Amino acid sequence: MTSLGHTAPPPARREAFDVKRVRGDFPILRRSVGGGPLTYLDNAATSQKPRCVVEAVCRYYEEQSANIHRGVYRLSAEATAGHDMAREKVRDFLNAGATEEIVFVRGTTEAINLVAQSYARPRLRAGDEIVLTVMEHHSNIVPWQLVCQATGARLRVVPIEDDGTLRLDAYEELLGKRTRLVAAVHVSNSLGTINPVKQLVALAHARGIPVLLDGAQAAPHVPIDVQDLGCDFYAVSGHKMFGPTGIGALYGKLALLEEMPPYQGGGDMIRSVRFEKTRYAPPPSRFEAGTPHLAGAAGLAAAIDYLRSVDPQGRAEHEDDLLRYAADALAAVAGVQLIGTATPKVAIVSFVMDGVHPHDVGTVLDQRGICIRTGHHCTQPLMERLGVPATARASFAFYNTREEIDRLVAAVAEAREVFAG
Ligand code: PMP
Repeated sequence: MTSLGHTAPPPARREAFDVKRVRGDFPILRRSVGGGPLTYLDNAATSQKPRCVVEAVCRYYEEQSANIHRGVYRLSAEATAGHDMAREKVRDFLNAGATEEIVFVRGTTEAINLVAQSYARPRLRAGDEIVLTVMEHHSNIVPWQLVCQATGARLRVVPIEDDGTLRLDAYEELLGKRTRLVAAVHVSNSLGTINPVKQLVALAHARGIPVLLDGAQAAPHVPIDVQDLGCDFYAVSGHKMFGPTGIGALYGKLALLEEMPPYQGGGDMIRSVRFEKTRYAPPPSRFEAGTPHLAGAAGLAAAIDYLRSVDPQGRAEHEDDLLRYAADALAAVAGVQLIGTATPKVAIVSFVMDGVHPHDVGTVLDQRGICIRTGHHCTQPLMERLGVPATARASFAFYNTREEIDRLVAAVAEAREVFAG
């Protein structure tokens, strides 16, 4: 088993992972910036897109552009079939039991807001509790705060160890009589920690508590099987998994989705509309008011096909190698401290440097065409817990290379010389 948590048995005869060939699939990686090659190490913010995804989006507009479910004509039927096929690909990617359990949304943020407003809000009473972890992204905090403000419920927060490991003992203690929902991140975007989400689900379910998992950072790195995890809701963003922006998916157990009222009203989410009374469509249409992001769904389907075509074990081992290589090399730079060293973790390395603000590190790197993220990474409570205002974060995808990490490390060492003398 690799530290990424993959356990797939090796195929009988497997080619070595060919990063050069894979890089050829991503047109943007040929770009140069400021005279040097683009070194894109901000994959946790958004991933780059393979040509087949760009082509799938173009193909929709060039060959299939029509609205779905509305036309008796062939073009609309084709667009409808394409959209249905995309939903089936997402179902298969998450291993959901039925396509009705896959709701297309704008991304993880919208998926969580949907569950907060449609599932949680009608059920919560004053004094009820929602359990989150301290490493949540703001998009898995603020929607619950909005619901708490409306209902009088409150948030309980699972702490972590200093290295970024979730405190399971504290989690169990927080699951109480008033807990109505657990909402937890599968993989931390700031630290890379892979949380033991199957265990989180089992412990919550033993007490009758449903669980939502934020899979935004898991989808590009680890296999996801919602039936095996047993979770009630799972959220992903297309743009983090090599697909387009503006499209993502919410998985929800059908029995729960069927009980939930609509989140937004409009076309396509109804059975019949009268001024006196409107009857709603069943899931997933009930939660998909208005014209969907049809080109986005086509691109997401292409991204899933692409991911399947690149040997998963080879990808995982390569990312694992990048993680170890980058962590060792950065830790060896004078004044650098790694933030978040818990295992297992995905290929994300956060760090701070003595006497140098992360933004200054980021600026030096930018001058060399190296893209990393600096700041709080939309996890301000986590930064507060760790006692840092911000970190510099390099986050890798399977198309990154050791040479790119060498460039990163050299530039980080230079930043240290420039700013800390
Ligand atoms: N959760 C996590 C862990 C994330 O990393 C992100 C994006 N940075 C989100 C949620 C929100 O995703 P999106 O902006 O695509 O809705």
